[in-house]
Amino acid sequence: MSWFKREDHKIVNDETKTVRTEGLWTKCGSCGTPLFKPDLAANLQVCPKCGYHFRFDARSRVENLLEPGYELVDLELRSTDPLNFTDLKPYKRRLAEAQKKTGLNDAIVNAIGQLGPHNVVLSVMEYAFIGGSMGAVVGETIARAVDRSLATRHPLIIVSASGGARMMEGIASLMQLAKISAGLARMDDAKIPYISLMTDPTTGGVTASFAMLGDLNIAEPGALIGFAGPRVIEQTIRQKLPEGFQRSEFLLEHGFLDAVIERKNLKSYLTDTLSWMTNQPATEKAAKA
Ligand SMILES: [Zn+2]
Repeated sequence: MSWFKREDHKIVNDETKTVRTEGLWTKCGSCGTPLFKPDLAANLQVCPKCGYHFRFDARSRVENLLEPGYELVDLELRSTDPLNFTDLKPYKRRLAEAQKKTGLNDAIVNAIGQLGPHNVVLSVMEYAFIGGSMGAVVGETIARAVDRSLATRHPLIIVSASGGARMMEGIASLMQLAKISAGLARMDDAKIPYISLMTDPTTGGVTASFAMLGDLNIAEPGALIGFAGPRVIEQTIRQKLPEGFQRSEFLLEHGFLDAVIERKNLKSYLTDTLSWMTNQPATEKAAKA
């Protein structure tokens, strides 16, 4: 074993020969397998071993669902910090940091384009921006997506990933729940389909309003979906909650969701669903048949 030399039970490491891999690897949150980040990205941020769904950023989601040539819209809105709010740090500074980190003005991206053969309006929340919390900008951006659907009659898909209302905007944040819900009621009257896709996590005021108001409410596997967190509920009702409570599969089993769909199958599922919702053939081939 002369080729392998240890000294003082330590592997001798020549710094200059070491390839730095920190930051390139991550661990699966479920099975613990070390995963190479570029491979994980190529697999839509889903663990190839156990199927655990990591969070997916808003722009990758748009890229994954829509055909090339889509357009990002309504990106110009910025929060004015109406309450001049300061907690651990000033809200203005938190906004600036989140904007720098994500390259977005707020926790939302609107896009118009085609999903398979269907023209759609897509609104995707960005969890990396202050926990995907919904202030006036997120609310107004979603309301504009609703208006686009009403104007064009193109179906609306909202992808939620949110801790709920943004406390730093107080009542201006809570008002968004009613505003979006009213818009969705108009879509209902106009008979334009709205599909809600809930991803990890969808909680608080977002669950309590538009996320649960879809003509179809679907979720990704293992997503945390609820209003209050499990600890708050356990303390309030003084009971232990069942295993898997507030996860997609539990909600599906108890009738709160219509389907749980793996990320890799979402696009084909949405294409087929929109086909029967709009009474249009799913593919060019089907149209000719
Ligand atoms: Zn895994």
